Amino acid sequence: MIECELCGVSAPSDELPLTWVMTLERGLITHYCDRCARDNVRNIEGRLDRTYW
Ligand SMILES: [Zn+2]
Repeated sequence: MIECELCGVSAPSDELPLTWVMTLERGLITHYCDRCARDNVRNIEGRLDRTYW
């Protein structure tokens, strides 16, 4: 089951919805629902940028 890391809502299916975001943090796959992803997109992208550089 796929659950949002922030609000804990479950995805409607076993597959990751297109509107959800999947990130890889410290070797752990983390999922964010569409709402949380939108609220945290800057934080998520900021972390990715730091990882790349
Ligand atoms: Zn959420």
